[in-house]
Amino acid sequence: MSEQKLPTFEDVVAASERIAGVAHRTPVLSSSTANAELGAEIFFKCENYQRMGAFKFRGGYNSLARFTPEQRKAGVVAFSSGNHAQAIALSARLLGMPATIVMPHDAPAAKVAATRGYGAQVVIYDRYTEDREQIGRDLAARHGLTLIPPYDHADVIAGQGTAAKELFEEVGRLDYVFAPLGGGGLLSGTALSTRALSPSAKLFGVEPEAGNDGQQSFRSGSIVHIETPKTIADGAQTQHLGNLTFPIIKRDVDDILTASDEQLRADMRFFAERMKMVVEPTGALGLAAARAMKAQLQGKRVGIIISGGNVDIARYAELLAR
Ligand SMILES: *Cc1c(COP(=O)(O)O)cnc(C)c1O
Repeated sequence: MSEQKLPTFEDVVAASERIAGVAHRTPVLSSSTANAELGAEIFFKCENYQRMGAFKFRGGYNSLARFTPEQRKAGVVAFSSGNHAQAIALSARLLGMPATIVMPHDAPAAKVAATRGYGAQVVIYDRYTEDREQIGRDLAARHGLTLIPPYDHADVIAGQGTAAKELFEEVGRLDYVFAPLGGGGLLSGTALSTRALSPSAKLFGVEPEAGNDGQQSFRSGSIVHIETPKTIADGAQTQHLGNLTFPIIKRDVDDILTASDEQLRADMRFFAERMKMVVEPTGALGLAAARAMKAQLQGKRVGIIISGGNVDIARYAELLAR
């Protein structure tokens, strides 16, 4: 990973050509209730309606589509808490290659089932005691598989950047953009598109309060590692930013904000009641931060990326009820 060059907006453009006709061009939705409540014009980029239910299909497919014939033949290995797994499994199936996915023992049942359903082989590990990166690397070495990490890879970042590219193409320039933050693939890709297509927009990454390594890293200037945070936002339970994602975030992002599990629950409820949308906890990070910044958003045009909608339905009901 150390030898990789930072991706640029040109790579995002190339990725958007590669995924065209395969990934969905997801809708940009608005809500007059949200606009009235925030005193702003809000544009929700709805990646919960992306194939397999999250933006990760963009980066996964873009990466696998670039494999050589030899790499395709041996197949891909990935480690993931869920959505990256499904993205790689589905992309591999579409491209006709084998996939092995390393998943944590406590990954949501729906995500494990969906990954197996796409035809991938699933290897389970304990997220609190084992190192998934090591397991992934061992499998890659032993079987000649190509490892595609969930965020710290130029093709993954470029693919994730296509969501914001589509958003700006559809609604034009924005004053503020909010994107969920885990390891930073989505945020760094969003940053490349934002600085190219709406350069003066203020761009914020939003991570769970329980695991604010991204905020600590951004404010201190070097990558901070933390223990796996306990939060309902399982798509953002990462322990550190990446060697590729962090320099882009440092250069192009205005700040990193946080949201509590309680705020995420309230926003999931809002999406369900007002917009009839199932949004997973991590997908609600952007709205949570925008609500907290309401005073600054008055009269502004605001883009919020809803990153995904994959949540076990029994768990979803539980999260909304409490
Ligand atoms: C992976 C994921 C994130 C975080 O993305 P990073 O690229 O790791 O920052 C946010 N939301 C959802 C739904 C995800 O699956």
